[in-house]
Amino acid sequence: MSHFSIEFFPAKTDVGAEKLREVARRLGTLGPEFFSVTYGAGGSTRDRTLGTVKDVLALGYDVAPHLSCIGDSKEEVGDLLDLYHSLGVKRIVALRGDLPSGMGRGLGELPFAADLVRFIRERHGDHFTIEVAAYPESHPQSPDLASEVKHFVAKANAGANSAITQYFFNADCYFHFVERVRAAGCDIPVIPGIMPITNFANLVRFSDACGAEIPRWIRKQVASFGDDSVSIQQFGEEVITRLCRQLLDGGAPGLHFYSMNLAEPTQALWKNLGLPLAQ
Ligand code: FAD
Repeated sequence: MSHFSIEFFPAKTDVGAEKLREVARRLGTLGPEFFSVTYGAGGSTRDRTLGTVKDVLALGYDVAPHLSCIGDSKEEVGDLLDLYHSLGVKRIVALRGDLPSGMGRGLGELPFAADLVRFIRERHGDHFTIEVAAYPESHPQSPDLASEVKHFVAKANAGANSAITQYFFNADCYFHFVERVRAAGCDIPVIPGIMPITNFANLVRFSDACGAEIPRWIRKQVASFGDDSVSIQQFGEEVITRLCRQLLDGGAPGLHFYSMNLAEPTQALWKNLGLPLAQ
């Protein structure tokens, strides 16, 4: 089975929440395997993430809340897991997270994502399907790819079922990462995370923070469009459609779309790729 999923971040206002429900309805017609909802490390979006999770469940779709562990106690993480279990959630995206600066918490009782995966398995057995993060271009704190692969494999060995990658614009880094992981004896699916190119200034800011490389030729081409946002979007759609095709043709088992809470960019990619629609 192919894995096609879509990510949201929780809305900040009631109006934003209503808009997001409408986006979820529209994207739901594509038939994604699940929607995931991001979480602010240290619990900073706890209630808003929970609200969006409930909204998506109420629309009748499968949902995977993101859950981070850095800075939290086992009790805090365990309470939220139990709540998700009681709501009928069956999938979790298990992450370490990054504490916002000045939050004043230590690493907590679960310092790495592998510790969280182990904790979820100890507490809830096989109830949850567990997704973890992968970084084909290396996590910014990893000294080298060997260490990246070693810590990734530790998450699979702790009980993760599948992984979603940080976004990237170069298919070779994905294939190289998957080869290294397979050579290390790990066979869980690694789903490429796909970031549509919409707001380029925001994309540059995110990419600098999370260590995703925007190739020079993309930067140059976008710069040449100046304020012409229509040309930027058309170019972005072409580039990302081609990337997705390369990934699927090369054996990627699915795609995870970072929707940025917009329906159109993901709908356009889904259509360009000829992906199946909901039955
Ligand atoms: P880990 O897998 O624990 O790795 C973190 C770093 O520590 C890596 O460099 C790793 O190599 C290293 N490491 C791991 N284990 C050890 C060890 N035992 N000893 C020494 N070093 C070790 N962040 C949020 O706050 N909220 C979200 O909702 C969110 N969603 C995300 C979704 C996806 C698909 C991805 C790819 C990332 C997401 N993030 C989110 C970002 C993520 O939380 C950060 O990148 C964070 O810095 C690392 O989280 P991780 O789960 O990859 O951590």
